[in-house]
Amino acid sequence: MGKTPYDWLDRSLEALHRAHRYRSVQAIEGMAGAVIQRQGQTLVNFASNDYLGLASDPRLAEGAIAAIHTYGTGSTGSRLLSGHRELHGELERAIAILKGTEDAIVFSSGYLANMGAIAALVSTPDLILGDEYNHSSLRAGGKVSGATALDYRHGDVAHLKELLETHRDRHRRCLITTDSVFSMDGDLCPLAEILTVAETYSAMVLVDEAHGTGVFGKGGSGAVEHLGCTTHPLVTVGTLSKALGSLGGYVAGSAQLIDFLRNRAPGWIYTTGLSPADTAAGLAAVQIIQQEPWRREVLWHRVNYLIQQIDQILAESAAEPFRLRRLPSASPIICLEGISAEAILTASQQLQSAGLWVAAVRPPTVPTSRLRITLMATHKPHHLDQLVAELQTLIKG
Ligand SMILES: *Cc1c(COP(=O)(O)O)cnc(C)c1O
Repeated sequence: MGKTPYDWLDRSLEALHRAHRYRSVQAIEGMAGAVIQRQGQTLVNFASNDYLGLASDPRLAEGAIAAIHTYGTGSTGSRLLSGHRELHGELERAIAILKGTEDAIVFSSGYLANMGAIAALVSTPDLILGDEYNHSSLRAGGKVSGATALDYRHGDVAHLKELLETHRDRHRRCLITTDSVFSMDGDLCPLAEILTVAETYSAMVLVDEAHGTGVFGKGGSGAVEHLGCTTHPLVTVGTLSKALGSLGGYVAGSAQLIDFLRNRAPGWIYTTGLSPADTAAGLAAVQIIQQEPWRREVLWHRVNYLIQQIDQILAESAAEPFRLRRLPSASPIICLEGISAEAILTASQQLQSAGLWVAAVRPPTVPTSRLRITLMATHKPHHLDQLVAELQTLIKG
C-alpha cells in the first residue's frame, strides 16, 4: 500500500509514459488559422477542426462583441430560468432552417447535446446500438441513460441487423447511434441502410453531424443531406465548435422531439445557457456557411488534391520500410495509419520540425495509431505541397 491514497496517480502516469500514451497541452499563440504560431514556431496547421476558417472570421468576432455589449458576458442562468435570450431563439431557428427540420435546441457543447439527448430518449428498459467507432460523447450518453448499450462493427449494417434481430424484442425503445463523419477515421456512416433497418425494427436513429455540418451538402447542411436522408425522421446532433468556428452543440429534429428535450434533457435543463458571445458567433457562422458555398468548394478541391498526391506517394513506396496506410476517408479528415504509437509519434515530430502540425492520434482514442490530417478551406496549395514533400521524405527516408 502507498503512503497516501493518491500514490497510484504517479504509477498510472508512469505507465502512460512507458506506453507512449502520455498527453499534454501546448498553447497556440495568437489567432486561429491555417498557419499558427506555437512556442515561437510558425506551423502550417493540419490539426484543426476549423474546416472553413471561420474561427478567425471578423464577422463572427463582430457578432460576439456586439452580443457582449448588448447582453453581457454570461447568460447568468439555465435557459428555463434567467438564461434565455432572444438570440438563443434566433440561433435555434437558423439551425432548424439549415437542417431542414421543424425545430432545434442549443446546448452548451456538442458533448452535452449527445449526453442530454440520449439520456432523455432512452433509459433502463431500452436498447442502444452504436457504431464501435462512435465519439466518446455518444458512449457517455449511453452510460448515463442506463439503457443496455451494445456496439455493432464499424459501418457494418449486417451486424447491426443481427443485433436487432437478437435483442430488439427484449427492450421497450431502441436507439441507433452513429457519427455521420467518423472523427478519427474520416469515413461516412451508411446512413440510408441504417435508416432502412431502423424502420424494420422500429428503432430511433441519432446521427452526430459534428464533422458533417458546414462541410457536406449543397447548402452546408451536413452529411445527412449529402447522403440523401433529410426526409427521414431523425435525431440530428451537431456542434457549433468545428466548421462553425464557435462553441456549443445542438439537436435538430421534429417540433415534438425538441419540445420533449426542453422538458426532459438534464444536460440542457440543469446547465447555464450558452453565452451571448458564443451564440452570436454561431448564428453568424450558420448564415455564412449558407451564403458562401465557395468555402466548401475550395475545401473539397484541397481534399481531392491531397488524397490523390498521398496515394501516389504510397503507391511508389510500397517497398519502403516505414509503412503508412491511408484509411478510406471521404472527408477533410485524412488519416495515415502506422505500425506503432512510437512510429507515429516520431513521424509527427519530424513533420513538426519541418513546420507542419499533424496530430498523432493513438490508443486508447483509436484502435490503431495514425497521423490525422485535417484540411481547411484557407489552406493554400503550397501548404499542401509542403506536406506532400515532407511525407515523401518521411516514407522514403
Ligand atoms: C467534437 C465532437 C463532439 C463534441 O462536440 P463539442 O462541441 O466539441 O463538445 C461530438 N461528437 C463528435 C463526433 C465530435 O467530433
